[in-house]
Amino acid sequence: MKSICPLCNGLYEIDYNCTNCNTNMIDKGPKVNYLDDYSPYLLDEITHRVDGVKRDECLHIYQCPNCGLQQNYSIERKDF
Ligand SMILES: [Zn+2]
Ligand SMILES: [Zn+2]
Repeated sequence: MKSICPLCNGLYEIDYNCTNCNTNMIDKGPKVNYLDDYSPYLLDEITHRVDGVKRDECLHIYQCPNCGLQQNYSIERKDF
C-alpha cells in the first residue's frame, strides 16, 4: 500500500470556495511543482517539511478565477 495524493493522481477533485468572493477556486497543482533551481530557499522549506509532521499531506495551490486570490491547502494523502 502506498500513500498518494488523490489530486495529483487525478482520482478526484476537492473544491474550495474563495474566502474573498466565494467563487469556486481552481487547483493549480501541488506547490512542489512551482519550485525550480532558482529557489533554493523554498527547497529548504520543502526539505524541512518532509522531515517534519507534514509527510502525509500534499500542499496544493488554489487560485480564484474571479479575484485572483491564491491560497495553499494541505491535501491529505490516502492509502491505496
Ligand atoms: Zn497533490
Ligand atoms: Zn475570489
